[in-house]
Amino acid sequence: MTCPICSSSTNIISYLPRPDYHEGHDLVFCQICGTYFASPPPSTQELNQFYQSYDVLGVDEPYYRELNRPDYFKTRSGREVIEKALWLQDRHQIPVGARVLDVGSGHGVWLEVCRRLDWQGQGIELSSAAAKASQERFSIQVFAGRIDDFSAQSQNYDLITLWDIIEHVTNPRQLLAKCAQLVKKNGLLVIETPNSRALINKVAYFLYRLGWREPARTLHGLHHVVLFHQATMSKLLGEAGFNVVKIYSTRTSVGRVFKKQNLLAQFQKLGLDLVFVLGRIIRQENKMIIVARKM
Ligand SMILES: [Zn+2]
Repeated sequence: MTCPICSSSTNIISYLPRPDYHEGHDLVFCQICGTYFASPPPSTQELNQFYQSYDVLGVDEPYYRELNRPDYFKTRSGREVIEKALWLQDRHQIPVGARVLDVGSGHGVWLEVCRRLDWQGQGIELSSAAAKASQERFSIQVFAGRIDDFSAQSQNYDLITLWDIIEHVTNPRQLLAKCAQLVKKNGLLVIETPNSRALINKVAYFLYRLGWREPARTLHGLHHVVLFHQATMSKLLGEAGFNVVKIYSTRTSVGRVFKKQNLLAQFQKLGLDLVFVLGRIIRQENKMIIVARKM
């Protein structure tokens, strides 16, 4: 096996073996560059199958079901999406009329917020059901398919966003190369992805070694194929022709993870809250947002 980031084929150790990671796949760790990756990587067919059946429309999944509420933008997570857009607009001066491409646009709420800010948003979504539903709900333009098959003029976008996408692809270099081709010179690429050096990963792994396997399984069981940290993300972006402007440390809100109200869930939520607060203090939060500019 070869590390997808530094190409090393030595110093790769087992981290989360099958089936705790996935049926037929292990999560391994490259000691040279610090990347975690799936071995063997899932095939295109496996990934397509997963995303076609992925419950992004919220039929059974409470987190996604919330997205379908007519008053979604008044809920906590809806407000967070709006705040994120306002924050980006303010910090990185995204002008009115900016052309935005959202890769993995899912349910389309991000593109709807873009529209409200008078940005011209367009999406790419692998799940045809999600692409169709988001187009109908928000009247947005979404290409249903893989980014490799998406054709647009080169240097067409002021801003490309990858919200929780890059950790799901087997070839992140190829994805960034495509983004580099589509974004304008001096345009921005914004990537949100888990930080593999987060405190929560360390705690989950510690519990895993003690025999409580559920937290690590939950954390890594989302078809995360490659996990990055700040330095590996910067390296890849540099190679693709981007300058990293800033890397922000951020987190998933705990409320999203715990919807059950029983005592055990409350107790676990408290523990998780504590890990999140500590992670924030020591700047090892579970997510990072990387803002990069095309050179
Ligand atoms: Zn490596």
